[in-house]
Amino acid sequence: MNKKYNEKLQEQILIVDDLPENVRLLSSLLSEQGYKVLSATDGHMALSIVQRECPDLILLDIMIPEMDGYQVCHSLKSAEKTRHIPIIFLSGLDSEFDKIAAFKVGGSDYITKPFYVEEVVFRVKTQLSMIQQQQQFKQVLTEQIAERKIVERELNKSRALLTGVLDSSLDGVAAFEAIRDRQGQIVDFRWLIANPVAAMTVGGTSDSLKGKRLFVEGSPGHLFDGLFELFVQVVETCTVLEQEYYYNSFSLKAWFHIVAVKLGDGFAMTFRDISDRKQIEITLKKANLRLTYQANIDSLTQIANRRRFDEYIAQEWSRCAREREYLSLILCDVDYFKAYNDNYGHQAGDNCLYEVAKGIERGVKRPADVAFRYGGEEFAIILPHTEGQGAIKVAEDIHQQIQLLQIPHASSEISNIISLSLGVSSIIPDTRSSPHTLISAADDALYDAKLKGRDRIIYKSAESS
Ligand code: GH3
Ligand code: MG
Ligand code: MG
Repeated sequence: MNKKYNEKLQEQILIVDDLPENVRLLSSLLSEQGYKVLSATDGHMALSIVQRECPDLILLDIMIPEMDGYQVCHSLKSAEKTRHIPIIFLSGLDSEFDKIAAFKVGGSDYITKPFYVEEVVFRVKTQLSMIQQQQQFKQVLTEQIAERKIVERELNKSRALLTGVLDSSLDGVAAFEAIRDRQGQIVDFRWLIANPVAAMTVGGTSDSLKGKRLFVEGSPGHLFDGLFELFVQVVETCTVLEQEYYYNSFSLKAWFHIVAVKLGDGFAMTFRDISDRKQIEITLKKANLRLTYQANIDSLTQIANRRRFDEYIAQEWSRCAREREYLSLILCDVDYFKAYNDNYGHQAGDNCLYEVAKGIERGVKRPADVAFRYGGEEFAIILPHTEGQGAIKVAEDIHQQIQLLQIPHASSEISNIISLSLGVSSIIPDTRSSPHTLISAADDALYDAKLKGRDRIIYKSAESS
C-alpha cells in the first residue's frame, strides 16, 4: 500500500541476500537508524514478503538462489501494486554486475560489496526521501487539480449564467476591444462578445463575429458615419455614450438607442432598435406640423388667417419696440363686394377672394412682410422694420396687383373691375401700449379711403392718433 508522506509510520526495508552475515550486518545497521527490517534469502521468498508487507524499500542482492535479483526486480516492476517500491541492488565486486541492466529492469540505485556503512545508510535515506518528495509533490498536485476543478466548475456556472442573461436579453449586447496602430491611435475595434440579438442585427452569429473588425468587416454596410469617433471618445475619455442614432447603410436602415461604456481597452454596448417608436414620433411630428399649419392658414385663400395675425402682430410689436424700429400695417377691403356677390354669386365671390389674396401676396416681397385674411373681404399686411413711406410703397404695389387681375365687377360704383381700398399706418411701438394703437389707426385710414370714394390708399400715422 502507498503510505501517505505525512503518516509517521516506521519505514520498512526488505533485505534480500543469501548470505546470513550480510543480512545480519545490514539489519542491525538499518534497525539502528530506526527502520523496520524484513529479510529474505531467495527470490520467491522476497516476492511473497513484498506481496504481504509492501515494504518502503528493497535492498536486493543479484546472486540469490531460485531467481536472480534482476528477475525479482523485473517481476516487482511489472506489477501495479509493487512498481513504486524503490530497489537498490547489492552486488559483490567479484560477481558479474551489469549496472545498465540493473537500471533497465527498474533499479533505483546500486551498492557494491563490500559496502561502507555510511554509504548504505546515505543511499537508503536518499531513496526514501526521494519517494517522500514524490509523494508530497503528487499530493500537492492532486490538491491543486481538485482546487482548479472547483474553480472551473464555478467559472462554468457563472459563464452559463452570463450567457443565459445575454441570450435572453431583448437588447443587443456586445463588447469590443480597441485595435491601435504603432502610434497608439485607435484604428478600429474587434468584436469580443455579441449576444444573439446583436449578432442578428449585423447579420452574423455570436461565434462568427468574435475577432472580426467592427468597422472594416463586422458592421452592416461597413458604416463609419460618426459612430467610430463616438466610440473612440468613449474609450479615450471614459465618457458614457447614450444617444439615438440613425443607422443608414445600404443593408440596414434603422433607429437605435445606444448606450456605450468603456470596458478595458475597449467598450461594452447595449442597443435597442427603436425604429417603430421613431416612426410613430415622426408621424406625430408631421401630424403636429400639419395641424399647426392648418390652425394658421385660412382655408379659402390659403394665406395666413386672423389667428396668426394676432400672434404675429404681438410678436413684431415687441420686437420692433425692443429694436426701436418702425412697424407698419396695411388694412385693405374689397370695394362693393356685397354687390359683387349679389351679381356673380357666392361661389364667384369666393374665387374672387382667392385671386385677390394671391394678388396681395404678389405685392408683398420681403420675407418678414406677411399678408393675412383679416376677415370677410378684408386683408391685412404686417410690415416689420418698415416706416410709412415704405408701407405706402407696398400698398401701391398691392393696389396695382389687384388692378392687374382685371376681375370684372359690373356692379361696382367706382370701377368696372375689382378694386381695393387701403389704409396704411406706421409706428415705433412702445411696450407700454398695444398693437391696437396701430390697428385702429390703419382702420381709420381705411375708413377714410372708403369715405373719399374707395379704390385708393390713405396713410395715417399711429403716433399722432
Ligand atoms: P364696401 O365697399 O363699403 O366695403 O362695401 P362692401 O359691399 O364690400 O362691404 P360690406 O361690408 O357691405 O359687404 C361685405 C360683403 O362681403 C358681404 C359678404 O357677403 C361678403 N363676404 C364676406 N366674406 C365672404 C366670403 O368668404 N365669401 C364671399 N363670397 N363673400 C364674402
Ligand atoms: Mg368690409
Ligand atoms: Mg368691402
